[in-house]
Amino acid sequence: MRLKKVARVILVGAPGVGKGTQSERLLQRFPQLAHLSSGDLLRHNVKTRTPLGIKVESTIKAGGLVPDSFILSLIRNELFLRGWLMPTGPPGIMAFASAASPMDTPVDDRGAIGAAQLSDAPSASFLLDGFPRTAIQAGQLESFVPVNLVVSLKTPFDVVMKRIAGRWVHEPSGRVYNESFNKPQVAGRDDVTGEPLTKRPDDTEEVYRRRYKKFLETSTPLLAFYKERGVLWEVEGMSSDEITPQLFKEFERRFVE
Ligand code: AMP
Repeated sequence: MRLKKVARVILVGAPGVGKGTQSERLLQRFPQLAHLSSGDLLRHNVKTRTPLGIKVESTIKAGGLVPDSFILSLIRNELFLRGWLMPTGPPGIMAFASAASPMDTPVDDRGAIGAAQLSDAPSASFLLDGFPRTAIQAGQLESFVPVNLVVSLKTPFDVVMKRIAGRWVHEPSGRVYNESFNKPQVAGRDDVTGEPLTKRPDDTEEVYRRRYKKFLETSTPLLAFYKERGVLWEVEGMSSDEITPQLFKEFERRFVE
């Protein structure tokens, strides 16, 4: 389905609530949407041993939050590289687009960037997943990307906990499986490549509880920030399948009709 208006969307939800699943489904239904997951970007940096990846590895393993300045540089770089954000103004600002790694990108104290232009074309639509996670990150993002829909995904804690325990991933592609509701065709193997599936190191009960607590602490002010801007929309369900039709309907209402 084609979008008629540009969609700049954030999914907010506790870890394991199905942000990845909903993202995949939205991307399939609305092919103009591009997807950017801060968790995937960070894991890629860890895996390829970039300077940033080495610095954040232990924080991610422990289920903590990566410092705002790191994550903001990473995201901003990615937005420029994908062409969603175009630098304008003095030539020095072009350095953002060509910085060799996020760590090279100049950041001022507030995380603000120089003049930058955002396309209003529906083809410049995107979905940010896992970022921003705090009100501070949201404020910094807002200074160069005004988000126009924030989806708050809600599912009860116990349901999510069970889901986390059964989650397996195919790391190279990011495909996610689940023992109870999304089994791979062959146990322990990726459907497309046949390669082995692995557990994410942070998918343990202890780490999950810590991440959930942190999520509640940080998401409350984050959601309040977006509510005040009139872009917050909440959706509740026991499963991803319950949430998806509501999400599609809302997208169509806002960006297609
Ligand atoms: P996720 O795949 O979104 O659950 O993220 C995995 C891990 O990456 C988190 O537990 C954090 O350590 C880190 N992370 C991802 N996004 C952010 C963010 N916006 N701010 C800080 N840390 C993040």
